[in-house]
Amino acid sequence: MNEDILLIRGAHVMAPEDIGVRDVLVACGRIVAIEPGIRPSGIGFTTIEAQGRYLVPGLVDSLVHISGGGGEGGFATRTPPLIANAAFAAGVTTVIGALGTDDVTRNHADLLGTARALRSQGLSAYALTGSYRVPVRTLTGSVRDDLVLIPEFLGVGEVAVADHRGSQPTVPELARIGGDALAGGLLAGKSGTVLVHMGDHASGLSPLMAASSEFAVPIRQWLPTHVNRQQRLLDQGIEWARLGGRIDLTTSTTPELIAAGDLPAAAALAQLFRADVPASQVSMSSDGQASLPVFDANGRFKGLDVAPISSLIRDVQVAVREFRLPFTDVLATVTSTPAECWHLPQKGRIRVGADADLLLLDHDSLEITHTIAAGVSRDVFERRAVVQP
Ligand code: ZN
Repeated sequence: MNEDILLIRGAHVMAPEDIGVRDVLVACGRIVAIEPGIRPSGIGFTTIEAQGRYLVPGLVDSLVHISGGGGEGGFATRTPPLIANAAFAAGVTTVIGALGTDDVTRNHADLLGTARALRSQGLSAYALTGSYRVPVRTLTGSVRDDLVLIPEFLGVGEVAVADHRGSQPTVPELARIGGDALAGGLLAGKSGTVLVHMGDHASGLSPLMAASSEFAVPIRQWLPTHVNRQQRLLDQGIEWARLGGRIDLTTSTTPELIAAGDLPAAAALAQLFRADVPASQVSMSSDGQASLPVFDANGRFKGLDVAPISSLIRDVQVAVREFRLPFTDVLATVTSTPAECWHLPQKGRIRVGADADLLLLDHDSLEITHTIAAGVSRDVFERRAVVQP
């Protein structure tokens, strides 16, 4: 049995567009054929019988604190790094790693080392330069140099805007980050996208809108995230999308955050689709390994929990099964749209020549039954054991 060549037979392929029932042949990490009735001859291969299941692209998660995050309640509340198997269990095969609020004890060297460790385990891990604070922290001293010289850096982030934990950047400061990211991205053939952490302050997206109207930074350079943290910000996000901008929704949340106004990502996505925001301008990310506040029965702060990367597939399931949103559009927000946003043409789509990052999902529950990352089938039992609640 040759495990480098994999034949996935009879799955309903969502690429993310619906291309019907097909066989998919994978060889040495790439998709090499998508046709009905593929029968390789003269070579050994492994077969996965996938009748009655969906085959979808592996998920692309635009924000995971891969080297750990948190620390917002003191050192005891730091969160641990991401484990590759937790990502596979959650159907995530590509992650974009970023620093979080703590850009003092956490740094880019550690972030890059973590990304490289995850890569060695088959997870396609990338990273962002920059930081919450402005002027942003970098590895070499400048955003532009980092993007040109460090292969794993795809863009900048999280830069905090409208948040009490940020350093309250001015519009020209934001424009300079956007401009350097754009130029570095052009030189390196990358997107140079700036992932912006949106806080609760009423100014919301206004500084970013100003940075793109008053300066020569296209609106597509920015990817504001946590846009579902309150209704007012989501309404502004619809306006932003009408101007051509992309927005990112965060899937990890808690009942307490929802009670305080946070909109579950699937509910926010339903609103966006109703407002005719196309799936090509909306992505969802998990904010995995971030810290989430936990309260006791009396509403007293008990401590911090770790945001699960598995929240991404859960919101896909909720959006399709409970909100009845079109499966292809929901899938696009966690596959093709983030892949385009970060300029990763090998990711987020099932097509010949693309990386073989694939998921098999149960046709009804949309539960993951199989994760294939970099052409290698990841064991289902191992995955179940490490999935975080
Ligand atoms: Zn954030």
